[in-house]
Amino acid sequence: MNPSNVAGQAADHREFAKQLHAELAVPTSPDESDRYARWRNTRYATEEEQIAADAQLMAELNGSGWNRFGWPAEVGGLGGDVRHRAVLYEELAAAGLAIPQPTLLLETLGPPLVKFAPALAADLLPRALAGAEWWGQGFSEPEAGSDLASLRTRAVRDGDHYVVSGQKLWTSHGDTASRYVCLVRTGTPESRHRGLSMIVIDRDLPGVTVRPIAIASGRNKLAEVYFDEVRVGVDRLVGTENGGWAVATYLLQFERSVYAWQSAATAFGRFRALVDAAKQNSQADGLVSRIGALYADLVTLRARSAATLRRLADGAPVGPEASIDKIALARVEIGLYDLAAELHGTDFLFGDSAEMNEWRDEWWYSRSATILGGSAEVQRTILADHVLGLPKETVR
Ligand SMILES: Cc1cc2nc3c(=O)[nH]c(=O)nc-3n(C[C@H](O)[C@H](O)[C@H](O)COP(=O)(O)OP(=O)(O)OC[C@H]3O[C@@H](n4cnc5c(N)ncnc54)[C@H](O)[C@@H]3O)c2cc1C
Repeated sequence: MNPSNVAGQAADHREFAKQLHAELAVPTSPDESDRYARWRNTRYATEEEQIAADAQLMAELNGSGWNRFGWPAEVGGLGGDVRHRAVLYEELAAAGLAIPQPTLLLETLGPPLVKFAPALAADLLPRALAGAEWWGQGFSEPEAGSDLASLRTRAVRDGDHYVVSGQKLWTSHGDTASRYVCLVRTGTPESRHRGLSMIVIDRDLPGVTVRPIAIASGRNKLAEVYFDEVRVGVDRLVGTENGGWAVATYLLQFERSVYAWQSAATAFGRFRALVDAAKQNSQADGLVSRIGALYADLVTLRARSAATLRRLADGAPVGPEASIDKIALARVEIGLYDLAAELHGTDFLFGDSAEMNEWRDEWWYSRSATILGGSAEVQRTILADHVLGLPKETVR
C-alpha cells in the first residue's frame, strides 16, 4: 500500500488529489524511475491489446491502493466517495495515462451492484478493480434500444436457477468481458418495464456465444451476445425479481454522470494534443476561432459534469438535467475529432503514423456519440418533457 495517510485522503478528496498528482507525475530526478512509463501516451493497434494494457494499469493502481478510493470497504475499497474516483480519472488523463477502458463500464455497473447486490459486489468488485476481469452491459437488443422496456431476452425461474434465452446487441467490450450485467424479462411479454430483472451472467457458462463487432475503424469495440438456455444461479440477481427497472434507473445516474466526466477528461487530453499540433501546422490559421469555440464547449461540459457529480456525491438524484451533459459531450467529441481531421488534412486520411491512426480511430468512434447511452433525439425529448415542461408533441 503506497498512499500515505489513507484515512485522511478518504476523508478529503483535495488531499487525495494532491497526493495522487505527485504519484502520477513524471519523475524529475534521473535517479527515479517512472513506474507509469509503459502506459504514458501509449496506444495499441488492436482493441484487445489496448484493453489488456489498461487492465495492467488497473492492477498497478490497485496494488498501490490508488483506484480503491471512492469505493466502500465492504467491496475492497478504501472509503471516500465518487469525487475520489472523478479525481483519479482527471489525474490519469492529465498525466498522459489513458483512462482504463474497463473503468468506463465499472463506473456504470459497479454502483448498482454495490447497492442492490452487496454480496455479489463484495465477490466481483475487487477483481474488477484489480483489472483481473471486466464486464459488459447487456441492455440493448436488435428490437430494443431507445425503447428498452420492449426487450425480449427471457429468464425463466427453474428451482434455484434462471434459464436465460435471447440476444444482446452493441455490447461494449463484449468480446473480452468475463461477465455481462443484463436486463432480462422475467414477467409476461406485455409487462414492459414492470417485468424486467437485472442479472449477472458469466461469459463462460454453457450456452453463451459472443461475436465481436468491428466498427468502421476495424477495432472490435462491440459485440453481440447470444444466450441459449443458459442456467444462471438466482444468487446472480441484482435487486429483486421484476425489480430491474429500479436498478436500471439507479444505474443510469452513473452512466450519465461519471461516464461524461471520464469522457470529458479524455477529451481535454486530446484537445491539448490538438493545440500542440496546431502550433506547428500552417493549416491551423483558418481554424483558430473554432479551436477557441471548442475550448469553450469543453469548459462548459466540464462545469456541467462537475455540477452533476456534486449532486451524485451529495446523494441527490441526478435527474433529467443530466441529459444536458450527454448532449454537451456529444457536441465536444464530434467537434474535437472533426477539427483534428481538418487540421491534419490529407495526413488524417492517408497518413500511417501511430498518431494519425489514433486520430482516425477516434474520429470513427466519435460518430457514435449521439447514439450510445441514449440517442440525442431521446435526450432532447427528456429535456423538453421533464426539464422545460413543454406540451407533448402531437403525432400527425
Ligand atoms: C458505440 C456504441 C456502444 C454501445 N454500447 C452499448 C452497451 O455497452 N450496452 C448496451 O446495452 N447498449 C449499447 N449500445 C446501444 C445503444 O444504447 C443504442 O444504440 C441506443 O440506445 C439506440 O438504440 P437503437 O440503436 O436500437 O436505435 P433506435 O432506438 O432504434 O433508434 C433509431 C433512431 O430513432 C430515434 N428514436 C427512437 N426513439 C425515439 C423517440 N422516442 N423519439 C425521438 N426519436 C427516437 C433515435 O434517436 C435514432 O435516431 C451502444 C451503441 C453504440 C453506438
